[in-house]
Amino acid sequence: MRKTLLESLTHGPLTEAEPAPDETGLAELAQSVNRAARAKLGRSLSIREVDAGSCNGCELEIHALSNAFYDLERLGLRFVASPRHADVLLVTGPVTKNMREALLRTYNAMPDPKWVVAVGACAADGGIFAGSYAVAGGVKDVLPVDLHIPGCPPNPKALLAGLLALLQTAA
Ligand code: SF4
Repeated sequence: MRKTLLESLTHGPLTEAEPAPDETGLAELAQSVNRAARAKLGRSLSIREVDAGSCNGCELEIHALSNAFYDLERLGLRFVASPRHADVLLVTGPVTKNMREALLRTYNAMPDPKWVVAVGACAADGGIFAGSYAVAGGVKDVLPVDLHIPGCPPNPKALLAGLLALLQTAA
């Protein structure tokens, strides 16, 4: 025990150094999303997020978009509490049987035009939860999906790139 304590005091942490932040690239991406939203909708983009049964790994990355580092509200991208104010429905996780109805009601409460974005491997086809007695399937088995952002989980930059691709291609 004493040896371990001494080693921990004399050696640095054994974890890898964190990657350097790409602030310029991130800011450009966020501004592109905001510009595309204003061109498409005439205003900024409002997002309603629904966890349909995820492990919360995807939520951690989505929440990071609102933290002090990414701080996306400064660029006009915002998460809203009501589906009636949302343009995009961001869905994570497999759709569990318990959440299927709530997800459908959320989608039906959104005004047109509206888009559905499935986030993460589980949202695509159930991922590691596919085949469970509690799972109804991927998001596409319940709602019309406009875009899938792959990853387990996708990081904030991948989420932004996905939203930009959606706005540039959505009819
Ligand atoms: S894609 Fe990965 S992080 Fe996201 S809900 Fe599924 S297992 Fe969790």
